Amino acid sequence: MTETARSPEELAAYLASLDCVHCGLCIEHCPTYRQLGRESANPRGRVYLMRAVMEERIEPTPDVIEDLDLCLVCRACESACPSGVAFGEVMAQTRDKLKKRGRIRRWMMGALLDRKRLNRTATLMRLWQRSGLRVLRHLLWGRLKHMEAYMPTVPAADTRRPLPPHAPAIGEQRGQVALLEGCVMSVLFQDVNRDTMHLLQTAGYEVFVPQGQECCGALHEHDGDLETAHRQLDRNREAFAVDGLDAIVMNSSGCGAALSSTDMPAPVVDISRFLADHGERLAFSPFTQPVAYDAPCHLHHAQRETTGAQQLLGRVPGLELVPMDLWDHCCGAAGIYNLDQPELSGRILDEKLDALERSGAAVLVTGNPGCLMQWRAGVAERGLAVEVLHLATFLAAQLDS
Ligand code: SF4
Ligand code: SF4
Repeated sequence: MTETARSPEELAAYLASLDCVHCGLCIEHCPTYRQLGRESANPRGRVYLMRAVMEERIEPTPDVIEDLDLCLVCRACESACPSGVAFGEVMAQTRDKLKKRGRIRRWMMGALLDRKRLNRTATLMRLWQRSGLRVLRHLLWGRLKHMEAYMPTVPAADTRRPLPPHAPAIGEQRGQVALLEGCVMSVLFQDVNRDTMHLLQTAGYEVFVPQGQECCGALHEHDGDLETAHRQLDRNREAFAVDGLDAIVMNSSGCGAALSSTDMPAPVVDISRFLADHGERLAFSPFTQPVAYDAPCHLHHAQRETTGAQQLLGRVPGLELVPMDLWDHCCGAAGIYNLDQPELSGRILDEKLDALERSGAAVLVTGNPGCLMQWRAGVAERGLAVEVLHLATFLAAQLDS
């Protein structure tokens, strides 16, 4: 690519790649390097490859593309990098240029943009899960088999119904917030959305669910489709232009990272940080079993929110927050990485499951739909007696009523 052929975004990504000074301080933080141990599977090697492709010094051969595809885009390297290399931005631009998508993939990513289509797919999945046909799942193969095992129990249609557009504060009102319902969240984890709304109301906030909101586009960016990702951000910017909002509250860290990367009409804040700062009215009943916390990458590394969840858990009387090794490393979910790269995703999850077992936790708390699905599938497969919960679910259940 010549200088003149570069768009401003491509140029910004290219310049960001030049910030790498090859120090290698990121390497040990990279989950794929921990598994594969080769230079081209670590951040420094990937930046080198991406720059070489941008400078047209090398061809994007299948081997090069594979090394780039194996990246989780967990952005742990960004947290570790002393030069501030914007790795996520460089990778997003590179994938946008190189990614080829087949029909099934286009259908899958398109479904995220259409709630009716998502709901119809969920209904079919639920029928499959509840019918006797599931005994035939051993006949599935490849990705289909992996997808089937990974899919959580799909909730009934009644549980998936949309959130009300508005919910009043409980007690004296202290502010107004808006909530993103999300695509996957609204279909598979609407219970988490309802708990989030209830926590915000109890904290004294009037909650709006803007009706024009759409999928945030984070998974499309991850998949290298920047046109769709940017269009979704524009639509949400318009939808969330509600007067008087104190914050746009997120309970999915991937969506939070996407929306906070752009200029939204109000500050974009994860539920953990929002309640840690504004949840004084929340009172919790005691919890006596050991709890571990696993940080979602796009909360910890992309949004740099590293303490809110622990502060809130620390407010639950009697709760023992047990340390877990690798708690700030990716669990291998990473958007649809676990479907694209099931083998490596499984190895990454295995290391995390070992850490969970060593921690002795009875409950694992996290904050992202992909992480919930990945952890639940792994815990079930290993037969561990550990409940995996979203932070909002855990806190709402502990609310002193
Ligand atoms: S984003 Fe994650 S997987 Fe990719 S290079 Fe950085 S640390 Fe490694
Ligand atoms: S830590 Fe940053 S500067 Fe050092 S090798 Fe990694 S990406 Fe490059």
